[in-house]
Amino acid sequence: MMKKAAIITIAAAVFVLVTDLLAMGLMIADGNYDGVAVCAYIAAAGFLALIAGAAMRLALRKCPHCGKVLPVSGRFCPYCGGRVDGE
Ligand SMILES: [Zn+2]
Repeated sequence: MMKKAAIITIAAAVFVLVTDLLAMGLMIADGNYDGVAVCAYIAAAGFLALIAGAAMRLALRKCPHCGKVLPVSGRFCPYCGGRVDGE
């Protein structure tokens, strides 16, 4: 399921961000500013992954009947009129 992939991406990104920010805090306390710079890059990458996951989550809601990507939330597909079950 693509939806599951999006959720896993978001969860992984959040995990990376939290871990990285903790490490960054420790390095700031240690005065390890090279390490802080590396952590800043990792945090930026994690943030991008989070945005990508959120975009996937929003974009990949598909009609189970005709397979088209649904642009709006609703109970019925605007393309084929088939019933679309919620989350
Ligand atoms: Zn449809």
